[in-house]
Amino acid sequence: MAIQWFPGHMHLTKKAISERIKEIDVVIELLDARLPGSSANPMLAELTGGKPALKVLNKQDLADPARTPAWLDHYNSQPATRAIELDASATTPARRLIDACHALAPTRGSMVKPMRVLICGIPNVGKSTLINTLTGKRAAKTGDEAGITKLEQRIVLADGFYLWDTPGMLWPRIIVAKSGYNLAASGAIGRNAFNEEEVALELLDYLIQHYPAALQARYKVELPPGITDEQLLEAIGRKRGAVLGKGRINLQKAAEIVIHEFRASTLGRITLETPQEFAGWLAAGQLL
Ligand code: GDP
Repeated sequence: MAIQWFPGHMHLTKKAISERIKEIDVVIELLDARLPGSSANPMLAELTGGKPALKVLNKQDLADPARTPAWLDHYNSQPATRAIELDASATTPARRLIDACHALAPTRGSMVKPMRVLICGIPNVGKSTLINTLTGKRAAKTGDEAGITKLEQRIVLADGFYLWDTPGMLWPRIIVAKSGYNLAASGAIGRNAFNEEEVALELLDYLIQHYPAALQARYKVELPPGITDEQLLEAIGRKRGAVLGKGRINLQKAAEIVIHEFRASTLGRITLETPQEFAGWLAAGQLL
């Protein structure tokens, strides 16, 4: 069963963004560097159409460093678009953001014509962390679980440089099945909205194909040719003592271990999609 999740109050966010966008010079979209395609909200492009866009591949410290450059090239080859990678907790991200915005809107950024930037991103992508780093505050965090509404705020980043936090919440909009699984694996979706076992199996299926060495190093399991995701989940459960008695494996527990270790990057730095793969999923018509 594919994950389908598009909360009803999204239309309020849509309205708020379309009202704000008239006074905006650059739209910063925070993406998860481990799943840039899936962590984008396709609605944002419709709402902000024509505005210069800065794609920030956040959590780059968790993503595969061999894959991030391909995503940066992908976005940098699009019109009126720039991309940078970032670790939102890095100490001085402001300079790079300011420089990238100036490159996108060179006539803005003075007291007379201030640079007005809107920052958007799906829950859990690192928006609060980035804003807190930029403002040097440890502002109250409303909640770690995806889905808690925050108020709009305006931040002065430099003279003549204003950053607006998105009014409302920009939820992920899952348009292909694989994106739903990747979002769930990353922690972007509330835990009641998906089945852990199913998400772990999808994750393992991808890791068997693309990151077998990381699996072997972490779980000390054999990966004979043709091993299935189900067999691997069982093997991991057995190794970790997730058993129910009579040799039966606690697959739920094993799934939680795999998801947790992916999120915490205990499995290493992993990226769940390349630009080509993501384009392929869209083209394959697995649209929900
Ligand atoms: P928001 O919902 O978009 O505001 O996301 P938060 O700022 O609350 O971040 C969600 C989680 O991701 C928190 O546990 C952060 O500590 C973590 N996080 C944010 N940015 C980064 C980053 O660049 N790297 C890593 N490793 N973790 C990050």
